[in-house]
Amino acid sequence: MSLALSGIGVSRGIAIGKAHIILRGTVEVLESAIPEPLVEDEVVRFLKAVNCARQQLEDIRGRLPENTRVDIAGFIDTHLLMLDDATLVTTPVDLIREHGCNAEWALKLQRDAVVDVFEQIDDAYLRTRRDDVDHVINRLQRILLDDEQDDAYNAGVPLDNAIVLAYDLTPAETVLLEHQGISAFATECGGPLSHTAILARSMQIPALVGTHGLRRYIRDGETVILDGLQGILIAGTDERVLDHYRNRQQLEQQRQLELTRLTDTPAITRDGKCITLMANIELPEDIDAVSRESASGVGLYRTEFLFMNRSAPPDEEEQYDCYVSVIEALRGKPLTIRTLDMGADKPVDGSSRSCSNPALGLRAIRLCLKDHSLFKPQLRAILRASAHGPVRLMVPMLSNTQELHQVLSLINDTRNALQRESLAFSPDVKIGAMIEVPAAALSASEFASHMDFLSIGTNDLIQYTLAIDRIDDEVNYLYDPLHPAVLKLIKMTIDAGAAAGIPVSMCGEMAGDTRYTRLLLGMGLNEFSMHHTALQEVKRVINTSTITSLIPLVQELLNNTKAGRIPGRIESLNRNKR
Ligand code: PEP
Ligand code: MG
Repeated sequence: MSLALSGIGVSRGIAIGKAHIILRGTVEVLESAIPEPLVEDEVVRFLKAVNCARQQLEDIRGRLPENTRVDIAGFIDTHLLMLDDATLVTTPVDLIREHGCNAEWALKLQRDAVVDVFEQIDDAYLRTRRDDVDHVINRLQRILLDDEQDDAYNAGVPLDNAIVLAYDLTPAETVLLEHQGISAFATECGGPLSHTAILARSMQIPALVGTHGLRRYIRDGETVILDGLQGILIAGTDERVLDHYRNRQQLEQQRQLELTRLTDTPAITRDGKCITLMANIELPEDIDAVSRESASGVGLYRTEFLFMNRSAPPDEEEQYDCYVSVIEALRGKPLTIRTLDMGADKPVDGSSRSCSNPALGLRAIRLCLKDHSLFKPQLRAILRASAHGPVRLMVPMLSNTQELHQVLSLINDTRNALQRESLAFSPDVKIGAMIEVPAAALSASEFASHMDFLSIGTNDLIQYTLAIDRIDDEVNYLYDPLHPAVLKLIKMTIDAGAAAGIPVSMCGEMAGDTRYTRLLLGMGLNEFSMHHTALQEVKRVINTSTITSLIPLVQELLNNTKAGRIPGRIESLNRNKR
């Protein structure tokens, strides 16, 4: 009998192959009391496990073929770095001593505390970094428990074209399994922004996460179909269905080939309008992918990463070095550096401040304007880095013009101070505001009159317009980019920028979703910034669109936003051949 399990498709593509099941599940840890005289022995046992984990990861890194891309190997380095971090090494030792408990339990206590902090994070990408904490802690616990199944990877087993089914996979395992020839994987855990999911997209292997029950219902060795676009895993099927998927697999391969060919083609609509496509990055390492995909530059550099997982914020010099390295890697393409978007729920110094409503609290520019010791070094570092290449400075979460004037005055003071100190900076750094709060969108004309550019952050704009916490699963169903109110605010912002003669870009998720590309083109948007994996897809839609036909269609759609009608009208806009 045929069986279809649904999961979250995180890397598109179709694979047909034999299931290879990795039985390893969650790590079960029990608490046991350690008698006082043996506590130091327990600490030694824990530190040995840390060394062993380091050894394992270095081994895996050493087994990677020489041509492995830097960004892929970087995921393993992240775990190695975590093994040097006080949060995962020093604190568990303190816990063993304080509670007189076994090392496995101390790790569990620390894991729960760290995950609690991550759960509060408003940014979905940063929140997902808790998977990395889990992966490193699980590795340590398996070593302590003498669990043989430390890695899903097993060099002895041939895995050519196998579809790996596992409870969870670490990034390290994923890289090795790919080198062993697997064609796809599905896991029970994980989310679309986990490093494992990002890797799958980067390596272009179809993948699902959140596929519950897969190891219970599917037998090792049976033929399965994995559809990474639709998010389904099919087993026990007949030749007719297999044929259908073989055909789709061929079409998908053709599509991939066409997208690769698009890399060096500019984004130009059929009626000759050039559109700027930029990439969003979180880490300097992401620049490799930006160059590979021929993005026109970086439209959003989320600097939060530099400030996370450490006890003190990076100083001016560290930030300067980091920004310069990104600017140099971009070789003359513009870099849009967003000032720190942390606070309240995203602790800067490792301490979690309690706050009744974090999304509405002291975050982003509000925190920076309150704490100049945090903001000024960043402003100095960004301006100084601008001496090395084109930089745009972008401010998140502005909600009124007083904040905007405060920021502009601080930037002015910083420029004066740098001049007095004879430190080089470019006088041409463009200053922009992110439009993420409905109040800012409604005041877009006022913002536009003081700024060099605007950038629409739809992730937050939607959250604040519709009053739904973007990290609360219970209200996720209300998160609607096509809500008439959201569309009005986007249109107001684009029009305000055009009237003031300044560029308006979009850097929220909506910019990288091809379902909205034509709608946005018709609204007048001509600068998009997105995750690099979406660049060619969006370009393909742009290159098959005609702006002059889209503008009246979209205008008509916006004039007639009766409830429930918009999605259908967007579909017909997307089907339209013109
Ligand atoms: C946004 O809000 O759309 C945005 C790009 O910022 P972030 O997702 O980092 O909050
Ligand atoms: Mg935002």
